[in-house]
Amino acid sequence: MSELEELHRRIASCPDCDLCRTRSHVVPGEGPPDAEVLFVGEAPGFYEDQQARPFVGPAGRFLDELIGSIGLRREQVFITNVVKCRPPNNRDPLPGEMEACRKYLQHQIELIRPKVIVSLGRYSLAWFSPRDPISKVHGQAKVKDSVYFIPMYHPAAALHAGNMRHIIEEDFRKIPAVLEQARQAPPQQAAPDLEPEQMRLFQLDG
Ligand code: URA
Repeated sequence: MSELEELHRRIASCPDCDLCRTRSHVVPGEGPPDAEVLFVGEAPGFYEDQQARPFVGPAGRFLDELIGSIGLRREQVFITNVVKCRPPNNRDPLPGEMEACRKYLQHQIELIRPKVIVSLGRYSLAWFSPRDPISKVHGQAKVKDSVYFIPMYHPAAALHAGNMRHIIEEDFRKIPAVLEQARQAPPQQAAPDLEPEQMRLFQLDG
C-alpha cells in the first residue's frame, strides 16, 4: 500500500471532530499520487458524502468543465478538500473542524508534492493564507512554501451568481502558464528572496 493510500485509510476512520458522527462517508480526495496540480475545495456536500468522492455534485460538474477548459482531464489532477467530512446541512466548516483536519491536507501536500496548488473558495484560501481577502487575490499566482499557489472563487459561486462564471473561467485560464513556469523554474529558483511570511506575488509574463 502506498503512503497516500495508507494516509487515506487513516483519514477514513478519523474520530477527531464531531463530523465523524454525522458523515455517511469520509471523502479523503482522489487523483494520481504524483499529480502536478492539486485542487483544494472546502468540504464535501451531500453527493460527495454519499459517494465518498470529492466534487461529484453540481459544483463538481462545473469544476470538471473548468479543468477541461485548460486542457487537463479530471483524472490527471488531484482533488481534495480542507475538511474531509460533510458538515451537516452543508453549513460552513467550523474553525475547530478545519483545525482537526489540518494535518491531513498538510500530509497530502507533502506526499503529492504538486507543482501548483489551486484553492477553491474562501475557506480553502484561509487555510493557506488567512489574511488575504478572496475578492482581492483571486486569480493571482503566488509562491507559498516553495509551491505555486493560485486562489480561485469556489465553482459553486457560479451556480448562484451568473457573472461569477466568467470571472472563474478567466482565472482558470491562468493555470497553464503557472504550471509551465513551475515545470521550467521551480519556485525556489523563481523566488529566492521570499518575504518574511514566505509569500510574494509572482508576476506572470503576458
Ligand atoms: N464543494 C466543496 O468544497 N467540495 C466538494 O467536494 C464539493 C462541493
